[in-house]
Amino acid sequence: MVSRVIPVEPFDLVVFGATGDLAQRKILPALFRRFCAGQIPAGTRIIGAARSGFSTSDYREKLSSDLKQQVSEQICDVDALAKFLQLVTYVPLDATGEMGWSALCERISGAGADRVQVFYFSVGPTLFGPLAERLHSYGLTNAETRIVVEKPFGHDLASARDLNRTLASHFEEGQIYRIDHYLGKETVQNLMAVRFGNMLFEPLWNSQYVDHIQITVAETVGVMGREDYYERSGAMRDMMQNHLMQLLCLIAMEPPAKFDPDAVRDEKLKVIRALDPVEPYHIVRGQYAPATGAIGRDQNYRETVENQRSSTESYIALKAHISNWRWAGTPFYLRTGKRLKARSSVINVMFKDAPHSIFGEEAGRHANHLKIRLQPNEGITLSVTIKEPGPGGMRLMDVPLDMSFAEALGPKGIDPADAYERLIMDVVRGNQTLFMRGDEVEAAWGWTDPIIAGWQARGDVPKPYESGSTGPGDADLLLRRDQREWRGINP
Ligand code: NAP
Repeated sequence: MVSRVIPVEPFDLVVFGATGDLAQRKILPALFRRFCAGQIPAGTRIIGAARSGFSTSDYREKLSSDLKQQVSEQICDVDALAKFLQLVTYVPLDATGEMGWSALCERISGAGADRVQVFYFSVGPTLFGPLAERLHSYGLTNAETRIVVEKPFGHDLASARDLNRTLASHFEEGQIYRIDHYLGKETVQNLMAVRFGNMLFEPLWNSQYVDHIQITVAETVGVMGREDYYERSGAMRDMMQNHLMQLLCLIAMEPPAKFDPDAVRDEKLKVIRALDPVEPYHIVRGQYAPATGAIGRDQNYRETVENQRSSTESYIALKAHISNWRWAGTPFYLRTGKRLKARSSVINVMFKDAPHSIFGEEAGRHANHLKIRLQPNEGITLSVTIKEPGPGGMRLMDVPLDMSFAEALGPKGIDPADAYERLIMDVVRGNQTLFMRGDEVEAAWGWTDPIIAGWQARGDVPKPYESGSTGPGDADLLLRRDQREWRGINP
């Protein structure tokens, strides 16, 4: 099945930070792929801006070579690339000074008052304020202006509030798109489709039938290249407060009355507000260390960040409880870490055992289990219990009912749309459903801050775990104490 492409009207998109890693690896390739899919029409203007002194033709040359590496020729050929590059220009500009702003004004002058203007802040958060102020003072905004801000959105509740206040002094909440690329993943949206589009799951989606839920976001990469940022952040701020929190919200929220941005975000906010504080003994922090015989600075967190006394966690697991009618009594186990055994983002919904087995003890215990794979190989697997084939009595076994989205939905050899493609086009269309609202971000920090303050006050030091493992042993104990086990971390 080929996905339906609905073209949008020509628009202007300014990428601040156009020479940076994110712009090069994600934003511009996403725009190029949407262009090749026929969604971005002629007349659209894409303007890169950063301090580096490229001319437009130099920038196009650099972009051309970046895009050739990032986007397969099967999707976008050289003709398409040449046409796409014609949409792109570059302006040297300083977010904190006046350099380049008049040139930017000229570049996007002539746009009608109702032309969509997207300003993508692909720069460090300290530049969000200066950019917002200058967009305003140079009169670059109109009623259809949208700004996109990247994570991290603040470092704690106080800084997130400051950032929200700064942006709110120049833009309406309806113009601010706080991006969390996890929300753009096909499977994440399918979570809502599966839950609210089927009669099958929702009646069982509560503490009466669900034993517990596991959310795992495992990475194989270390922190090399992001040492300074990571050392100040750690897994709790970098991943748990945003990506895992968002997944938790989508899994746990009540059905919104309609699939509309505020209805969905209201329900997510209620989940965050219903989260209990986390007990210290329900938190496990880890830091990767070299596996036996392994060499290389990137195998060892402390060597990577050049701080032998670092107490920043590269791994965190915790047990969360949501105090509401639906979930009281069902624990949510969340874990995320770097340098783990495999790259894998998975949600496992573990259903309870049947209340009584008519097959007797020897048939074993068999509970249903819904596995939602976010990456790699996005898809959903439901394990169901059946009779083991053959004579020899009633023995039971679990078999997977598997739905791989790539196989089921994608034309052969073509990857499903990347999260950034979907999210950027949502910004252009003015749909905020998959973006975080200011109060959601603040509520997430409001839950996270006391957890961090707690381990800081106790002076907790993260437990070492071997690079390439499944994390610290204490994380296994966290579940074993409850007679449960983590599902494996598999690619
Ligand atoms: P980066 O590689 O360091 O790029 C930063 C960009 O900002 C560069 O283009 C830089 O270009 C520009 N810049 C810096 N100071 C500027 C100024 N005063 N005026 C105008 N431009 C300026 O950072 P990044 O990795 O692309 O990340 C960008 C943002 O996205 C950050 O907030 C980051 O936390 C977030 N993010 C990144 C990723 C990722 O995978 N990279 C993932 C999630 C979120 P010049 O030096 O030429 O000015």
